[in-house]
Amino acid sequence: MAAEIIDGKAIAKSVREELAVEVEQLKSDAGVTPGLAVVLVGEDPASKVYVRNKHRACERVGINTRDIRMSAEASHEEVMEQVHNLNEDPDIHGILVQLPTPEQVDDEEIINAIDPAKDVDGFHPISMGKLLTGQPEMVPCTPRGVMRMLESTGVELSGKEAVIVGRSNIVGKPQALLLMYEHCTPTICHSRTRDMTEHISRADILVAAAGMPQMITGDMIKPGAVVIDVGINRLDDGSLVGDVDFDSAKEVAGAITPVPGGVGPMTIAMLLDNTVRAAKNSACCC
Ligand code: NAD
Repeated sequence: MAAEIIDGKAIAKSVREELAVEVEQLKSDAGVTPGLAVVLVGEDPASKVYVRNKHRACERVGINTRDIRMSAEASHEEVMEQVHNLNEDPDIHGILVQLPTPEQVDDEEIINAIDPAKDVDGFHPISMGKLLTGQPEMVPCTPRGVMRMLESTGVELSGKEAVIVGRSNIVGKPQALLLMYEHCTPTICHSRTRDMTEHISRADILVAAAGMPQMITGDMIKPGAVVIDVGINRLDDGSLVGDVDFDSAKEVAGAITPVPGGVGPMTIAMLLDNTVRAAKNSACCC
């Protein structure tokens, strides 16, 4: 039987609708309008599209946005100065520096300079440390979005084998933690994993986040598994595909996300959610 398609666009829309109500309430109760600043350094076309989508999504729920464009030649110090200014700005509750930045800018140092209270990407070591120690505050948007999608399937997570392909700080590692907190048994596969096929074949929950086009095919998947495809890969013909071969996988999986229209919209929805949360926290502290 063909898999249930997990519709990221529809789930993201319902998240936005809930957030729009929360934003209205925050405005009327505390006089606070959430504000997100997005810093884009350089002219990368894909980054420009991501940034535009983030601004549009913010507008839909009533979050103010500030678009900070810096030239591709901007120095590391100039980007740091922007971050420091935004840290001090009371109208800004979330700061996002679109990565990657040009090579003269040290991404790690930039992330570390963001006030953890405004770290809506959840990449700051304090945010990561809090997640690791079971006191999550700002959780990275993509793995959070994946958890919301899993929740939407109604599948019981406790006791399940979860396999995550990819061990990045922004997806694979936090994803494993979030799944563990829901009582899954996570396994992280990566580029040096021996016999990855064997691990994947045991997965009740499979999260693919390697950035390798269509590397996971239907014959590798456990029948009935929930398959979440985080990968976004552009093929030579311009089309976008995930890390999973959707056509063969959907014949075996119990539920599966498409690319595009799966995890991508949920990542943005969780960015909005983190921004609203940061604004609420700031309102509580005033
Ligand atoms: P990354 O390059 O930082 O990490 C990729 C990981 O995959 C690494 O840990 C590496 O060990 C592993 N890997 C690479 N080749 C592998 C192989 N052949 N077998 C097993 N593991 C392998 O990437 P990332 O930032 O974590 O992103 C991963 C993918 O997810 C990319 O396609 C990216 O575009 C996409 N992404 C999508 C969203 C979204 O919103 N949908 C968000 C973030 C990233």
